[in-house]
Amino acid sequence: MDSERTEISELGEFGLINHLSKHVKTTNSSTLKGIGDDAAVIDIGNDEAQLISTDMLVEGVHFDLAYLPLKYLGYKAVSVNVSDICAMNGIAEQILISLAVSNRFPVEALEELYEGINLACSNYKVDLVGGDTTSSLSGLVINITVIGRAKKNEVVYRSGAQTHDLIVVTGDLGGAYMGLQILEREKKIFKENPNIQPDLDGHDYILQRQMKPEARIDVIKFLKELNVQPTSMIDISDGLASELMHICTQSSKGCHIYDEKIPIDAQTSIAAIDFELDPSTCALNGGEDYELLFTIRQGDYDKIKGNPHMTVIGHITDSLDGMYFIDKQGSAIELKAQGWQHFKS
Ligand code: ADP
Ligand code: MG
Repeated sequence: MDSERTEISELGEFGLINHLSKHVKTTNSSTLKGIGDDAAVIDIGNDEAQLISTDMLVEGVHFDLAYLPLKYLGYKAVSVNVSDICAMNGIAEQILISLAVSNRFPVEALEELYEGINLACSNYKVDLVGGDTTSSLSGLVINITVIGRAKKNEVVYRSGAQTHDLIVVTGDLGGAYMGLQILEREKKIFKENPNIQPDLDGHDYILQRQMKPEARIDVIKFLKELNVQPTSMIDISDGLASELMHICTQSSKGCHIYDEKIPIDAQTSIAAIDFELDPSTCALNGGEDYELLFTIRQGDYDKIKGNPHMTVIGHITDSLDGMYFIDKQGSAIELKAQGWQHFKS
């Protein structure tokens, strides 16, 4: 028997996916894009492409039912999947849901979960068309597969960014992470003293960012209306820094983004400061905002200028230049996957 043992932690999530998919080859000509983007892209004839993605949420890893009601969990599970179709510039149309449920959940609890799922399906105009149900020995696992559609020549990949393109983010960042910090803090206080009521006042926006994220199907519609075809795109599930690195690595480019340009809501900043965190660090490294990060040609700038949903935060550079975050003092800090390090000039 092979005596070698490599810990998964040595590779990390992305390293593990790369390692396992190293020898995967696609053989069907209909497979336009396999592993490596927000969704797989399948040629379905005419000018159309089918987009398929799947995401799993595991109790205790991705959610904690102590503070996330099942209805919200259902909504969020659909949102995060629809978001991956948006990230390809497509429209989500169907989902399949697989559940592994422990018998500690009564039927009523699962009805609540489905209330959230149904609400999201109705908001996103997505049909629930199947799934699978099984028992689990520990907790709840939800896996959703989403199917979407786009014109083949309108699909946007992570790999299309060009030098001088502008880097754009939608909405604001860091809110979902700060919402989670608030929920974790109140849970801890409640555990220590169940008589103390949770203090969630003034945090409604960031709690909603954490508990009920919205996939930006509105932005995909705006981009079509404005006649803007992004050159590259990804959704922000793991924090701005990590997603920007995916775009830059897959496009073989570098970037400069500017601290002062990063959109951060006042509630996020106030909470971050309260927790002695830098708001920009929360935007760069906090996850689950499910906003879109994309690049556009400079010539398209006038089309999105002044749009309240989109902010230009920097530009793409030549690959040799590296990936940099320019702080408010003008110092260039090299972006790292998990956090960032000071650039020694
Ligand atoms: P996202 O954050 O957009 O959901 P992931 O980081 O989960 O994307 O996945 C990146 C890519 O790796 C995707 O193309 C996904 O389909 C693929 N992938 C993830 N896990 C596996 C796996 N176990 N086997 C094969 N492909 C995988
Ligand atoms: Mg994604």
